[in-house]
Amino acid sequence: MMKRIVYLDNAATTKPSESARDAMLPYITNMYGNPSSLYSLGRNARDAIECARNKVAKAIGALPEEIFFTSGGTESDNWAIFSAAEMNKDKGRHIITSVIEHPAVLNALKHLEKIGYDVTYLGVDGHGQISLGELRSAIRSDTIFITIMAANNEIGTILPVSDIGRISTENGILFHTDAVQAVGHIQIDVKEMNVDLMSFSGHKFGGVKGAGALYVKKGLRIPSLLHGGGQEHGRRSGTENVAGIVSMAAALDDVLPRLPSLKVSKMRDRLIEGALKIPRSRLTGDPINRLPGIASFVFECVEGESMLLMLDQYGICASSGSACSSGSLDPSHVLLAIGLSHEIAHGSLRFSLSEDNTDEEIDYVLERLPEIVAKLRRMSPLWNGD
Ligand code: PLP
Repeated sequence: MMKRIVYLDNAATTKPSESARDAMLPYITNMYGNPSSLYSLGRNARDAIECARNKVAKAIGALPEEIFFTSGGTESDNWAIFSAAEMNKDKGRHIITSVIEHPAVLNALKHLEKIGYDVTYLGVDGHGQISLGELRSAIRSDTIFITIMAANNEIGTILPVSDIGRISTENGILFHTDAVQAVGHIQIDVKEMNVDLMSFSGHKFGGVKGAGALYVKKGLRIPSLLHGGGQEHGRRSGTENVAGIVSMAAALDDVLPRLPSLKVSKMRDRLIEGALKIPRSRLTGDPINRLPGIASFVFECVEGESMLLMLDQYGICASSGSACSSGSLDPSHVLLAIGLSHEIAHGSLRFSLSEDNTDEEIDYVLERLPEIVAKLRRMSPLWNGD
């Protein structure tokens, strides 16, 4: 018999939504043409891509020509960052970011540092918020771009992107935001946010893996990251992932009218309230400005990895730190940045919810979690039984 699965790791990836699956099915069955081919099988695929571009653009308040499809968040982040550096290399070599960015941003910036760029990493407060005053003070005459995420993947904090965008515009500096955890979860309007470049990824909101997009403000001629057959108006070569792109647009179209989902945030709040009844537990991230689906905690004297393994025995899928770093034993850079000690950061646990979850599943987790934490604490040499 199949084990019961309670999937609470939607910030790592989501189950493809029914609308996404239905929309993409023709493009992995009989509509398999290459969108660059001139016969109707190809033209149908091209039409599907352009229809998806319109939908995606509308969903974020952009124009269709401002949307470039990529393979996902990592590619979009890398493309935005390397382009912004390349375009402005004669103006300066200084970049501003935050310490809580995803590795797709941090490691791209590390590469730029190796080749002579200077990066300022803004710290965050205990809720994971940057200071706008510190951002203003960090701007120099040679600052060429700012890259700060819209929402954090580990602690769910929503950052003040519109204010950051306004400061960037006032100073004539390009602004990129990694909105991989925000698009499809909260309302996003690129114009209202004053962003020049914005990354997002279909598999975080019901699309399939391997399709994402970069929003590029009209008039900004960013260089290509991939060179080849000249797809995506010559800016991103490679035969398009038609099915993935179609799935992303259908998923976004589907979730959009319900954002931010009250159903999800109600379940999140119940999970938070219940989990915080466990002694020596804390919520991580901003208690108010937080993503509807993320309930993230630290539990003292327990290892995140051990909690994950025990939750898995009950079929509960969660995460400790980000999916990318949960394979390593280092505590998450985000949890250290919000001021937690190494020891406490090791006891992190993130549940990320979707509309597929139910109240009954939250009850199930709240039944199991206290006994798991208590059991692990009994085995811990750090726990004094208090
Ligand atoms: N940025 C953030 C904030 C993310 O959470 C992720 C994925 O976890 C990425 C970027 C990378 O996105 P992708 O998996 O589509 O490459």
